[in-house]
Amino acid sequence: MKSCSVCGRKAIYFQRHSNRHLCRKHFIYDFERRVKYAVKRYNMIEKDDRIAIALSGGKDSVALAFALKKLYGKRRDVDFLAITIDEGIAGYRPPTVKIAKKITSELEMEHIIVSFREEIGMELDEMVKKGDKKPCTYCGVFRKYLLNRTARENDATKLATGHNLDDETQTILLNFVQADIERLARLVPQRVQENLVLRIKPFREVYEKEVLLYCILNDIEVEMGECPYAHFPVRAAIRDFLYEFENKYPGRKYSIMRSFEALMDCFKTNFPQKELNKCRICGEPTPKDVCQACVLRMELGLI
Ligand code: SF4
Ligand SMILES: [Zn+2]
Ligand SMILES: [Zn+2]
Repeated sequence: MKSCSVCGRKAIYFQRHSNRHLCRKHFIYDFERRVKYAVKRYNMIEKDDRIAIALSGGKDSVALAFALKKLYGKRRDVDFLAITIDEGIAGYRPPTVKIAKKITSELEMEHIIVSFREEIGMELDEMVKKGDKKPCTYCGVFRKYLLNRTARENDATKLATGHNLDDETQTILLNFVQADIERLARLVPQRVQENLVLRIKPFREVYEKEVLLYCILNDIEVEMGECPYAHFPVRAAIRDFLYEFENKYPGRKYSIMRSFEALMDCFKTNFPQKELNKCRICGEPTPKDVCQACVLRMELGLI
C-alpha cells in the first residue's frame, strides 16, 4: 500500500477524485471536513437548533448520528435526538432497530421509536397484502409523515437524513432523464413552512463507499441487509451508469452536484415552493385538502 499523501504514514484509502492516498487519520479528517463544509454552506446547523436525526439503523444514518454527535455534540446551543420508524418489515427492520438502539445508547442520545403498527394502525407487510399500491408508496408516505410529526412534536427545528453524494446525484439524474423537473426542483433546500420541519442532508458531499469506510474505521456496527421490497430498475440503471462513469472520470458526481447547485435559483423561480394547508382530517401540512397519508389510510380502511 502507498503512503498517505498528507503525512507519509501507511495509506488505507485511495481517494480517486482528489488523486490522493490517505491514512486512517487523514481519511477521517477529510470526511468530517466535507460534512462540516456542507453544514456550513447550507446553514444546516444554527444556534438553538434541536436536530432530529432520521435513524433507520442502516449505515448512512448510523454514521450520521455518530458524526454529528462528534462534530457538534459539544456545542451547548445545539441538541440532538434520533427518531427510528419501524415500518413493520419482517426480517429486515428488526436488526436495524437493534443497531439504532445500540448506537443511541453509546452516544447518549435521546431516541424515539415510532411504529407503523401503533401510529398508522397496520404494519407495512400487512398493507402490502391488503392494498393495491407498491410497498414503497406506503412506506415512503407514512415514514415521511411520521418523521415530520414526531420531530415537530418533540420540538425539533431540523430533520437530518443520511442521504449521501451517490443518493443525491442518482436522484438528480433520475428526475432529469424522466423529465420530472418539478420533482428535481424539490431537491433544492426548502424554506421554513409552518408545521413542516426543515430537512437537512449533512452527507451530501461524501461518497457512499466513504460512509461505509467511516463506519468501519470508527468501529460502528453496520447492517447491510436489503429491504425485500426494494425494486428500482431505473434507479439501479442510473446507479450503475454513474458508478462506471465515476470510475472512468473520477469526480464527476461532484460535477453533477455543482451543475444542480448552479441551477438552484432557476428552480426556485420556476417552481416556487407551494403554500401548505392543514389536512382536513389529521391537521398535518399538505399542498392539498387531504394529505397523502390520510388518503392511503382511507384506502386501507384505517379511518
Ligand atoms: S425499499 Fe423498503 S424501506 Fe425502502 S421505501 Fe421501499 S419498502 Fe420502504
Ligand atoms: Zn496521513
Ligand atoms: Zn392527513
